Amino acid sequence: MAKSISYVTGSQLLSLKRRPNIAVVDVRDDERSYDGHITGSLHYASDTFSDKMPNLIQAVRGKDTLVFHCALSQVRGPKCARRLADYLGELKEDMGIKNIMVLERGYNGWEASGRPVCRCTNIPCQGDSA
Ligand SMILES: [Zn+2]
Repeated sequence: MAKSISYVTGSQLLSLKRRPNIAVVDVRDDERSYDGHITGSLHYASDTFSDKMPNLIQAVRGKDTLVFHCALSQVRGPKCARRLADYLGELKEDMGIKNIMVLERGYNGWEASGRPVCRCTNIPCQGDSA
């Protein structure tokens, strides 16, 4: 049951984010610590992503939509999204994740469009300090 990956724009994500069953997964590496992040996003750095996939799946229990992004969503974001889709396909149990998406233009595009960013240092992001 290989899942396909679709792309969402920043404005689509902004309206999707109002739903409780969506998780935003930031796979940037060090940049997250100095560039800010999308409010409420989870952080699973691309360099350790494969090892952390089981943790990620636990962290997003109850969510049916995951939106991946990196800085530009050209390499790391789509790659990690693909990896997770393949991993989910290998699991016997259905984890309830129905949609795997990638944010077009990544965090840089999001921030450049003036969309809300958070600069907290909480892990995980508590989401209120934008
Ligand atoms: Zn934050």
